[in-house]
Amino acid sequence: MTRIAFIGLGNMGGGMAANQAKAGHEVSAFDLSAAALQRAVAAGCTAAATAGEAVEGADVVITMLPAGAHVRAVYANDVLPRAKAGALLIDCSTIDVESARAVAAQAVAAGFRFADAPVSGGAAGAEAGTLAFMVGCVEADFADIEPVLEPMARAVIRAGDHGAGQAAKICNNMVLGVSMIAVSEAFALAEKLGLAPDKFFEIASKSSGQCWSLTSYSPWPGLVETAPSNRDYEGGFATTMMLKDLKLAQDAAAKAGASTPMGAQAEALYALFDRLGAGGKDFSAILQLLRGEAP
Ligand code: NAD
Repeated sequence: MTRIAFIGLGNMGGGMAANQAKAGHEVSAFDLSAAALQRAVAAGCTAAATAGEAVEGADVVITMLPAGAHVRAVYANDVLPRAKAGALLIDCSTIDVESARAVAAQAVAAGFRFADAPVSGGAAGAEAGTLAFMVGCVEADFADIEPVLEPMARAVIRAGDHGAGQAAKICNNMVLGVSMIAVSEAFALAEKLGLAPDKFFEIASKSSGQCWSLTSYSPWPGLVETAPSNRDYEGGFATTMMLKDLKLAQDAAAKAGASTPMGAQAEALYALFDRLGAGGKDFSAILQLLRGEAP
């Protein structure tokens, strides 16, 4: 049994902490939201009064927070001053590469082992324990990190050194944002050309247009049973979250001097869709914008 401190129990962290408790670990949990904390207690975790209290005595500290500023603050105020010597620190939030590397450097300077380990798989994957983890860590530390993540994972892949997990996450989600727009544009064009959407789907699924956004997550309703398009674009991966990741990719590209014109265009389209009030809808609802429908 491992003593795990879990900080950030929202849509993602709630299910992840519950799976650690289910695996038999002692989970000391904290969230600023009393409701989130209560849900974690109902799932077998112990409530801590503060993030610092949760961290005290833990073998592993896992954070699942909204953005880089939250992670930097929780590390500076609670994790680094209160973690016990030798504790393994793992941040699973999706944050900017710069913050991940800054926090890693502070953790290492204070004598801790650290990993940035953002995830893919959404709230459903967090609940089911089937997330994909992209890990940035020192190579020698990976053997200890992998089993800790296992109760929450279907795949744990080391991407490289500190920050590489975040780099993998934003590059992957840039592909996803761009490909969802491309698929949605194709459906909208097929419709205008009088080609039935289900015929286009059948043909492109077996042709070179095949991709995850088409065959696993079709934005056109009625083609992929589990896709949010069949639930009026409820649940799934919100437009605001996709926009956050596309912004992280653009910021990183600007700093690294990388050319990402399709990523920039995807960010602009999702920003427009968000301004039109569709921030809470699944990101595949971008089809509505491209068909000229009000969101
Ligand atoms: P969320 O807003 O549901 O949860 C974040 C939680 O952090 C909230 O409960 C909030 O109260 C808590 N929090 C904020 N500041 C805190 C602090 N100082 N101390 C303790 N708790 C604090 O967000 P989420 O959907 O769970 O996402 C968490 C992270 O996972 C984000 O970085 C997000 O980009 C990433 N992510 C989300 C998804 C998804 O589908 N939701 C998928 C992959 C990755």
